[in-house]
Amino acid sequence: MLPFKLVYSDDYFLPIGAHVFPAEKYRMIHKRLLESGIAEAPDFVAPQPAGDDDILLVHTPEYVRKLKTGTLSPLEEMQMEIPYSPELVKAFWLSAGGSILAADLALRGGLCVNIAGGFHHAFPDHGEGFCMIHDVAVAIRRMHKEGRLQRAMTVDCDVHDGNGTAGIFPPKSRAGQPLPSAGGVQHHLRGVSAQLRDSSAGELEVFTISLHQANNYPAYKPPSSIDVNLPDGTNDEQYLGWLEQALSSALRQFEPELLCYIAGADPYKEDQLGGLALTIEGLKKRDELVLGVARSRNIPVMITYAGGYARRVEDTITIHCNTVLAAREVNGQMK
Ligand SMILES: [Zn+2]
Repeated sequence: MLPFKLVYSDDYFLPIGAHVFPAEKYRMIHKRLLESGIAEAPDFVAPQPAGDDDILLVHTPEYVRKLKTGTLSPLEEMQMEIPYSPELVKAFWLSAGGSILAADLALRGGLCVNIAGGFHHAFPDHGEGFCMIHDVAVAIRRMHKEGRLQRAMTVDCDVHDGNGTAGIFPPKSRAGQPLPSAGGVQHHLRGVSAQLRDSSAGELEVFTISLHQANNYPAYKPPSSIDVNLPDGTNDEQYLGWLEQALSSALRQFEPELLCYIAGADPYKEDQLGGLALTIEGLKKRDELVLGVARSRNIPVMITYAGGYARRVEDTITIHCNTVLAAREVNGQMK
């Protein structure tokens, strides 16, 4: 058995018809994890759908009402880039519930994977880019509401910029401070390091890192705490170098009580919606790097999956399953 839980439901399936987003990937990951022996049936726990009150911690009442009554405008539906249905709303509520459970179990046991989620393009008042509900933001706000955390960090390694995350948790000040040695990296330091250690404030602080391809969706990328704008064709070695630098810089400024790792499979060289050149092995090293850094500092980690559009869907499944393998290896090593 794994030393952590995998949150999963067959109902994570997104009913969106023929689409570049492989809606069946969650079921395929579940099947592969079992068949390969990486996981056993008791490793999985089933989520409950998020409550409307949870969704409203992030999203506006007006947007939630539109979703629940099927009254999005054609433009809003187009911007979401997935066809609206009441069943799809249910699937996103469930996915958000899965991320709440993953955050809960990560805070209890150190690590948890939601075999779904990472819908980082969703904004408070609208959906974008296959994302209706920002499950990770919902989970962070719910844990904060329960008084279980004040400082969270998102590490977004999907090939696309985490624009929704940055929109929900904007850096507070001093936008646009480049790292001296790194043309592609922008820091948006808040100048609040001292304040961050003042836990009496009770306010939620979220430090956001986004490593993404510069020349890719979304056209407008709102500032994260740290943005790494990667050039086209970035390879394993270059990517891992940037990631290591971003993580060490972030952890010098900010001590998170929960790290939310958004482990997109789309930096893969064979991805249809990505333009980076990472290999399957490189992506596993990426997972090991993030998880190893968190483990060495005893930071609890919740993992979500975000995008993955490989020409062969099996590759996307392999990359996502490797994240569980990496988690098992890193966790085993440190024991
Ligand atoms: Zn993506």
